[in-house]
Amino acid sequence: ELRLAVALAVVCGTTGYLLGYPLLGIGVGLAGYLAWHVWNLSVLTRRLKAWEDLPDSYGAWGYVFRRLTAAKSETKKETENLKLSRDRYRLVTRALPEATVTLKENGQIEMINEAAVGLLGLKDPEDIGRPIINFVRDPKFVELLDDNPSTQSIEVSSPLNESSKLSLRLVPYGDSNKRLLLARDVTRLNRLEQIRRDFIANISHELKSPLTVIIGYLESIQDDKNAAAKWHKPLHHIQQQTHRMRRIVEDLLQLSALETTEAIDDATPVDIPALIRSVCNEAAELGDNEGHAFKLEIDEDLTLMGNYNELYSAFSNLVFNAVRYSPEGGNIRLRWYTDANGAARFKVEDQGIGIPPQHIKRLTERFYRVDKGRSKSMGGTGLGLAIVKHVLMRHDANLVITSEPDLGSTFTCEFAQARVISRKQIKSA
Ligand code: ADP
Repeated sequence: ELRLAVALAVVCGTTGYLLGYPLLGIGVGLAGYLAWHVWNLSVLTRRLKAWEDLPDSYGAWGYVFRRLTAAKSETKKETENLKLSRDRYRLVTRALPEATVTLKENGQIEMINEAAVGLLGLKDPEDIGRPIINFVRDPKFVELLDDNPSTQSIEVSSPLNESSKLSLRLVPYGDSNKRLLLARDVTRLNRLEQIRRDFIANISHELKSPLTVIIGYLESIQDDKNAAAKWHKPLHHIQQQTHRMRRIVEDLLQLSALETTEAIDDATPVDIPALIRSVCNEAAELGDNEGHAFKLEIDEDLTLMGNYNELYSAFSNLVFNAVRYSPEGGNIRLRWYTDANGAARFKVEDQGIGIPPQHIKRLTERFYRVDKGRSKSMGGTGLGLAIVKHVLMRHDANLVITSEPDLGSTFTCEFAQARVISRKQIKSA
């Protein structure tokens, strides 16, 4: 550019000199040079404003125009790619029955699919950029949104229809704190689940009375001295099976009761040390239990806020299982203590048959047994651990199972610190 300006000044200066006005010649040359710059500048500003193509030019302006034209075509390509991936995202998510909403770090809506329009009442593009909590106002959701790494799902009423229920899940994605909100309608599923629960509760209830009558008659027949001896054995079998049926019905009724309410409203301090001792006494009286040695390690000061009957049922199921599934002579260790974080633990350790690892995950399913024959012969219903799981869920607790085949199993109930209350605290209250 400098060379161009100098050359122009020299040429114009020489021409001016020949005509007798050297300075005027230089002035005209530089003015022309300046005018050319101003003209190019005006072309640039005009075309940039309208985002039009720039013309060819020379010198520095030629370079600037060419760079800007290249940058423009790159931006265009990038925009097209972005649009393409956005369209592809829409195409993929449109096929999903679940509402999918991508959220920015601050909870603003970034993209939505069609199901989100129907399920959450969001509009595209009007609602893009708005905070999601303007649409889903349930406090549980607001909490979930604040609780960043959580991927648990919650159930809320639909923002469009109070009687419809939606299951919501927030899945983190990408490097930054972006999240994907997944919502699906669980109204029908909930209704079916309710029908299933009612059906089981009703059928168990209906079976209870005829079973009581049958058991009553069986006892009378067995007591009858005139009954033929050949019937003694079959009657004994019938009685065993009817008792088993009654235990199954009772366990089913208990499970239904645990399922129908979500949490315990009447939590009171439960004297767990006394509860464990009475479970232990009951277990020691189990018919085939002559050779088990119970070892108790109990923190006498440690009690728990909860429901006595439910906890009794859960703990007794674990202890009875330890008896059922370990040979006579085996030790059964019961521990009740707090861990380093102040959370309470009830641990049942046996030296029994153990459980192969592939079964452990499924043990709390109803009627799931590792060895059906053994469970039945020991009087098991296949519902014990399902009851334990439900009771613990209602006490904000977890069941942890570790086991080694042929060496033994350990079942640990882990209660949150918030449930723990010491005897001293109760006395001082
Ligand atoms: P069940 O009435 O059959 O004992 P549960 O729900 O209490 O039903 O237990 C489910 C299954 O888990 C049992 O059938 C058994 O196979 C296994 N199980 C439970 N506790 C133990 C244990 N302490 N040792 C070995 N296996 C166990």
